[in-house]
Amino acid sequence: MAGKTFPWVRAQVPWATGWQFTRGTHDGLPLLSYDCAPRDKLATFRQLRAKDLRPNGNDPVAVLYGRHNRSGVTWFASLYLIATAAPVRPMTPAKWTALAKANLARRICADCGHDRLYVVPTSTRQCWTCFEASENHEMTEAA
Ligand SMILES: [Zn+2]
Repeated sequence: MAGKTFPWVRAQVPWATGWQFTRGTHDGLPLLSYDCAPRDKLATFRQLRAKDLRPNGNDPVAVLYGRHNRSGVTWFASLYLIATAAPVRPMTPAKWTALAKANLARRICADCGHDRLYVVPTSTRQCWTCFEASENHEMTEAA
């Protein structure tokens, strides 16, 4: 659909009172072009992240579209309300501890119980020393 245009449509939108100009709807959401999307009120996921914000579980309230000039491809991006966004959760001490514990558990050998300072293979949960020992043991058993 090259050259497809979206006609101006007046609609009531969540980020402003009264009638606003939109470019119709897309997937049931108001469709906006760059020239009518209020940058201070709406942001894409990437734009939120750039402000250290996250959608906070809120669904997008509008869809932004643009056209890639060289390919002529029309792209769409979800727009979130900046007002309902929340700060990106910082790493708390408890989170760091949990992460360290999880990483430590991955380094502990299931046989000798030593922290081998490397992540032991999930298939055996053994460090290389124990793995080689059990391999040799199995080989001598088989022989
Ligand atoms: Zn071991």
